[in-house]
Parts: sequence; C-alpha cells; structure tokens
Amino acid sequence: MYGKFKEHLTREIAAIRNEGLYKDERIIVSPQGAEIELQSGEKVLNFCANNYLGLSNHPELIKAAKEGLDTHGYGMSSVRFICGTTDLHKTLEKKIAEFFGTEDTILYAAAFDANGGVFEPLLTEEDAIISDSLNHASIIDGVRLCKAQRYRYPNADMAGLEEALKKAQKNRFRVVVTDGVFSMDGNVAPVDKIVELAEKYDAMVMVDESHSAGVVGHTGRGVSEYFDITGHIDLITGTLGKSFGGAIGGFTTGRKEIIEMLRQRSRPYLFSNSLPPMVVNTGIRMFEMMSETNELQDKLHKNTDYFMEKMKAAGFDIKPTKSAICAVMLYDAKLSQDMAAKLLDEGIYVIGFYYPVVPKGEARIRVQLSAGHEQHHLDKAIAAFTKVGKELGVIK
Ligand SMILES: *Cc1c(COP(=O)(O)O)cnc(C)c1O
Repeated sequence: MYGKFKEHLTREIAAIRNEGLYKDERIIVSPQGAEIELQSGEKVLNFCANNYLGLSNHPELIKAAKEGLDTHGYGMSSVRFICGTTDLHKTLEKKIAEFFGTEDTILYAAAFDANGGVFEPLLTEEDAIISDSLNHASIIDGVRLCKAQRYRYPNADMAGLEEALKKAQKNRFRVVVTDGVFSMDGNVAPVDKIVELAEKYDAMVMVDESHSAGVVGHTGRGVSEYFDITGHIDLITGTLGKSFGGAIGGFTTGRKEIIEMLRQRSRPYLFSNSLPPMVVNTGIRMFEMMSETNELQDKLHKNTDYFMEKMKAAGFDIKPTKSAICAVMLYDAKLSQDMAAKLLDEGIYVIGFYYPVVPKGEARIRVQLSAGHEQHHLDKAIAAFTKVGKELGVIK
C-alpha cells in the first residue's frame, strides 16, 4: 500500500513547491531574541517573532523556570483532573484572572487547545456561533467540532455582524467570537461595538487575545483595557506562547460557571497532559512582573510608534494599526519575497506574506516589534528597508 501513497504524497508536495507555497524552516542556534544566530552562521535582527515584550529569554523568567524545576520537578505525567494539578497551576489560573479582570481561568497545553475545546462543551445545535471571517485557524477548528449553527461576518464589519445577529435570533444562545488583534493587518477588532451589538441582540462575546494581550491597552491587558469594557467580555482565550514568555501554554478566562463547565467537559483539558511546573511557575513570575512595572509595555509602544513613523516618513505604505504588527504593503507576491530575501542579506529577518495567507493582491512584509528591540535595532531595520525599498522601486 505505502508505495502508491508515497507517490501520491510526492506529487502533492511537488505541487506545493510549484505553487511557491512550500514552507522551509530556518534553523536558529541561539536563544530567541532581538538578535539571533542562524545555523548558517549569520547573525540577524529578528522582526518576525511574537516576542512582543521581549520575555522569551528574560533572566527573571529563566530563574523562575529553574525554581519551578527544583521545587516541583520536570513533568506531571497526568492530566489535570487525575493527579496533574499543583498549587502552581491554581496560582497561575488566579493570576491570569486578576490580569484580565475575570472570575476564573482554565489552563491548556496551548491556545490552539483552548479554542479547540471551548465551543463543543458549551453549545449545541440549538445555539449559534457568529465568527469573524479572519479568525484564527484554532477558532475555526473549534467551531467545526461543535454542533452549533455557524454564521460568519466579513472582518470587523459591524453591519455584517448585525445581520448575522438578526438571523441568529431564532437560536437559543448566541456567541460572537473574534480575535482581539488580527495577525496579518495588526488591526484591533472593534470589540466596543461588538459588545454593544451583543447587548442589543442578546449574545455573549468571546475574544481571543493571543496577539493582543501584553500589547494592546496601556498596560497590555488587551482589548478590554483598550476599549474600557472590562467585565463585558464573557470569555477570553489566550496564549502563553507570544507576549507572555513565549514558551507554551494557553488559557480560557471568564465567567465562573463557564470555566467550571469547561473543567468538566472540555476535551483537550480532560484528555491531554498538564502543563509542566517550570512553565507554570514562570507564568506566575511573569504576571507578577506585569503588575510590578509597565516598563516593557511602555517600551513596546514607544518602539512601535517610532518604527511606524519613520517608515511612513521614508515613503512606505503602512497599514494603520494599534498593535505591534506593522504591515508594509507591497501588493505584489514576488516583490514581497524578493524584498524579504534582500532584507535578510542586510541582516534583517522579516517574512513576506502573500495569497492565500493574505487576500490576492495584498502581499506585504510583516514586521513585528518588540520591547526587546533597542533603538539602534530599529534604526538598522529602517535603514535596510529604505535601501532595499529604493533598489526595488518600492519607494523613491
Ligand atoms: C497564536 C495564536 C493561537 C495559538 O496559540 P498557541 O498557544 O501557540 O496554540 C491562537 N489564536 C490566535 C489568535 C493566535 O494568534
């Protein structure tokens, strides 16, 4: 049997290559950070990590991870409800709820699991899920696993949402779900308006804060801080794998009864291993740092403003955003790849995105800013963009 299947795979993989969609992985031999070393020996400035607060290699967090290893060992060898819950897990769940101003939190191995396991235990075929068209793949998969009726509205389109809400009046319960920040444009979802519409049409609101937590809002508490709507969002999912240290782990935080039900019925929670104590202890320390100082958020916001302003002044077409994602619009797929390659030659590591990751004719380079960047890093990137941009005729 495998002979034929192998032929099939070989053909499919060749087709992926021919379409220019094959993903090669660049191998890094240093810790994650503003400056990284590649296996090729090149040292480059990194502008494509989700390391928004620069915590991936932070000494305080490394110390906390080591402490976690010393006090609670390496692995839990269990799911949470059998013998995988330590005092650390409970403390981290409480810290996350404090951070977001919610009632309780449930941890998962990843945000992918949090989203995968959130709908099916709560909703049935009588209910409705109303989802933004650009929501993350894990939300789409979570929705697929649930029998609720599905409605989709165009990205951040409130007229579209209102239409869907009207149609969904026939359902028993309704939940509107959106990413807090959309990863390709860096736009913040209009959650203030979503909450208003949800109140008008009697729906619950769920926000995936994976790209927005730590970044959006003066103290990084996400869209509820940004729009001053703390307490109006019923459910928040998020990751420990981006701003919050970048290791691994996800969570759902929100209304007490919802979290209680997820602990009883959410499959990725019930049937997958408990997070390792070192990751959990590091998470606790990380949230303590967030409440002690706003230094990292301030630096991130300053870096983002600085970079955007200088890039616009250089003549680049930048999507307006309130996140740490800066989309440098090029519109042409090949140009996005050529420009990323030339930038790498200049020591700047960024990724060019094109269809089908972004809509046709909207190719771009995505730059991700971090509190780990110093001004000289930003200046070097801006100079490289300007040089390459002129060479390729993107700017004058
Ligand atoms: C990154 C991301 C996820 C997945 O997070 P993991 O913890 O890595 O699984 C989920 N949702 C959104 C919106 C994301 O950006």
